[in-house]
Amino acid sequence: MKVLIVGGGIGGLALGVALGRRGVTADIVERRAAYGDGGAGIVLGPNVMAVMKGLALHEDVLAAGYPVGLARITDATGRVLQQTPYAVPGWPLPATTLHRRQLLRILRSASPAPRLGVAVSRLDSGVDGVDVVFSDGSVGRYDVVVGADGIGSVVRRHVRGADVAPRYSGYTCWRLVVDGHFEDAVVEMWGRGRRVGVVPLAGGKSYVYLTLNAPRRAPPPWTDLAGFRATFAGFAEPARSALARVDRLDGLLHNDIEDCLAPRWWDARTVLLGDAAHAVTPNLGQGAGLAIEDAAALAQLLATMGPTQEALSRYESLRRPRAERIRDRSWMLGNISQWESGLARGLRDRLMAWTPESVARGALEKVVRDMPGVPVG
Ligand SMILES: Cc1cc2nc3c(=O)[nH]c(=O)nc-3n(C[C@H](O)[C@H](O)[C@H](O)COP(=O)(O)OP(=O)(O)OC[C@H]3O[C@@H](n4cnc5c(N)ncnc54)[C@H](O)[C@@H]3O)c2cc1C
Repeated sequence: MKVLIVGGGIGGLALGVALGRRGVTADIVERRAAYGDGGAGIVLGPNVMAVMKGLALHEDVLAAGYPVGLARITDATGRVLQQTPYAVPGWPLPATTLHRRQLLRILRSASPAPRLGVAVSRLDSGVDGVDVVFSDGSVGRYDVVVGADGIGSVVRRHVRGADVAPRYSGYTCWRLVVDGHFEDAVVEMWGRGRRVGVVPLAGGKSYVYLTLNAPRRAPPPWTDLAGFRATFAGFAEPARSALARVDRLDGLLHNDIEDCLAPRWWDARTVLLGDAAHAVTPNLGQGAGLAIEDAAALAQLLATMGPTQEALSRYESLRRPRAERIRDRSWMLGNISQWESGLARGLRDRLMAWTPESVARGALEKVVRDMPGVPVG
């Protein structure tokens, strides 16, 4: 079976690994000329760790990552609103944080090497195969083409009935990695129309993310470090100490937070995976996990059913309900967490503080357990 994967990000590389474990060597093309050093932190839940175990990569993740036991939401003063253990009975591997660069390195170590600096210029998908013209002038014919090319997917435009524009959440996000550990838990602090997240990483580093309500594509509201500090000055520990470690602004990654759900994920011999099919807002920290789960599920179906329409249809019917649920929950959580009204925030915070831990734990367990069709180790 000849498979082309367009996009050598988390989902595309995970599919390369998953197919390779089943004896299929895929071609992967990646638009970027080099992987570089970019990215910030990522949290892989116990379910995604189990999928990584199925790919025989969990030991590499554990070696490079940092195990986390608790997720805590506080208000800007540090008062705890909700605290949820990551551990879920029956899922023995710990939730693990790691630098995105390390996750990509681990996936690349086990997947076919992508052709870097190459994109797809033309796709002609028929019932028997797909003819592809690449940006370097080369051509190929494949049994199936997988669009793992992210939220702005080009392949999605070639899947009949799938094209869709991303939806903007109303808030934007900056990310960076700083020296130091400030908490052992994953902490997210909710302020007025803004949040600060502090996530421990291996090697005594922390991943810090900052959100702010803003119009789409607005420039940052600061021009220098003093302005940056003033924007998030209202946050207590651990945000205060983590932000004190920021000494330059040129390394900040900046993304408007959007989501996007393709109305259809496949057509003839072309199929979408990861953010290309279903980008979710990062409020539940599940986007990369969903892409890895998709990869494991799709590889199993292609290996057992061949590159058939039945396999692609089954893939969408197994994966879409989960992606939709996570997208909706994540969108709602993001909206609530970015509220500005003092009255609404006061009520929200009181309600959250009163909610028993078992309720939040139950919701997290549902996310972890609900992975039909995804092989785990
Ligand atoms: C601020 C923020 C924080 C996040 N935090 C988390 C988190 O903590 N945990 C988590 O699980 N998820 C998180 N996510 C989500 C996660 O980053 C994505 O869901 C994940 O990267 C999706 O992987 P993907 O492979 O589908 O897409 P991508 O990672 O976007 O990869 C797509 C790849 O395709 C390449 N490409 C694009 N177009 C073409 C083309 N035409 N031809 C060839 N190659 C192409 C790109 O260069 C890229 O390498 C976060 C997202 C954001 C924005």
